[in-house]
Amino acid sequence: MSVLHAREDKECSEKTEVRDRWCAWVNERLLPQAASIDQHGITPRSLLAEIGSIGGFSVGLGEVEGEEFGSLRDMAIVHEEVGRGSAAVRSFLTVHCMLLQAVCRWGRLPVGDNRLHDLLKGTRLGGLAFSEMGIGSDLAGVKATASRTASGRYELCGIKRWVTGGQVLDSALVLAVADGGPTVFLVDCHSTGVRREALCDVIGARGSMMADIHFEDVTVGDDAIIGGEGMGLAIATGILDYGRLSVAAGSVGIVQACLDCSVDYAWPCSKDGRQIGDFQLIQELISKMSVAASAGRALVAEAALSKELGLSSTLLKTCIAKQFAATSAVQAANDAVQLHGAAGLTTRYPVERLLRDAKVMEIIEGSTQIQHGIIAEATRDALRQVGGVR
Ligand SMILES: Cc1cc2nc3c(=O)[nH]c(=O)nc-3n(C[C@H](O)[C@H](O)[C@H](O)COP(=O)(O)OP(=O)(O)OC[C@H]3O[C@@H](n4cnc5c(N)ncnc54)[C@H](O)[C@@H]3O)c2cc1C
Repeated sequence: MSVLHAREDKECSEKTEVRDRWCAWVNERLLPQAASIDQHGITPRSLLAEIGSIGGFSVGLGEVEGEEFGSLRDMAIVHEEVGRGSAAVRSFLTVHCMLLQAVCRWGRLPVGDNRLHDLLKGTRLGGLAFSEMGIGSDLAGVKATASRTASGRYELCGIKRWVTGGQVLDSALVLAVADGGPTVFLVDCHSTGVRREALCDVIGARGSMMADIHFEDVTVGDDAIIGGEGMGLAIATGILDYGRLSVAAGSVGIVQACLDCSVDYAWPCSKDGRQIGDFQLIQELISKMSVAASAGRALVAEAALSKELGLSSTLLKTCIAKQFAATSAVQAANDAVQLHGAAGLTTRYPVERLLRDAKVMEIIEGSTQIQHGIIAEATRDALRQVGGVR
């Protein structure tokens, strides 16, 4: 066996181990609670603590302060599996991983600060407060401000909308305009001047405990800046690319969940039940879901690997994976509801939830339209390079 094959073999068995472990956890612990999380719009803190205790919040960070947290391909597997169980719970992982990537890459937490330790363990929950009223896809228009005070600190003012986990977050990355331009700050959500307003009317990812967050003269120091003053849009773009990978993986999880439900419904185990799976047009629906799950998983793995290797094609690969997986999730969930007939429109089966959750994936972390724009331009640029990337 060649060295390359031996390495591939070892990596393959490690990835299988990660998937088996998380697949079992999702089946035993998450799936039984998924409907209740959706119905009540609440993810129990104890469940998030459990995920933290098995490394779910830090996976994908590589090595941090001498400790190994796994690769981005591991992260993609974990986010896919958790996304198969509950899009709401997966969304907590997505925003937390985005915050951690930013803090580890560009943050300025003082040595020994225990916030990093708590974030890695998931005992402190992190998220993002970038969007504002009418400002989502184009963050260049953010209105929140960060004014320098006489003592050299910053005072943050503004209203951030649609914050995943906003009802319970401990830390948030906040995009606000300072003298030097848009800047990302790491803010403690328990600070004086932070006010949360729960959002309860969102139909997808309902357990993600979203909130609008009001920042009213919230004071932070220099060490809260991620990157540098005026670097906010570049930092946000970098962070969103990790979120995109996570959302792509979570979308594959939704496709897989649709496939699992559809196979069970089409070919019930009791032989006296109707076997609608024997109809060829029903088989076409199931076959399309199966193809989408395999293709989406391969695209996500390729995007994760390109990020690990720092390839220039990483943005293109991630957008392709996100665009394909998110639109496939909507198609698969739509087909899964169709396959269930009237039953698919009831809360007795999970497919109506999967359809509501799938639609979210086409909007967050760069909408489908935004992805198409980036893919077209990045493809043009790649093809025009000498020996263009395919
Ligand atoms: C469930 C959920 C969770 C979220 N969590 C967070 C969070 O944790 N933190 C946070 O900051 N935000 C969060 N958001 C907000 C999210 O990032 C925005 O909704 C998203 O960026 C889209 O912005 P928008 O809703 O303002 O839509 P718009 O940007 O107004 O887009 C409206 C429509 O116009 C299209 N469009 C916009 N610009 C272009 C363009 N240049 N080319 C082509 N078409 C375009 C879009 O595709 C879309 O169809 C969340 C949203 C949802 C639904």
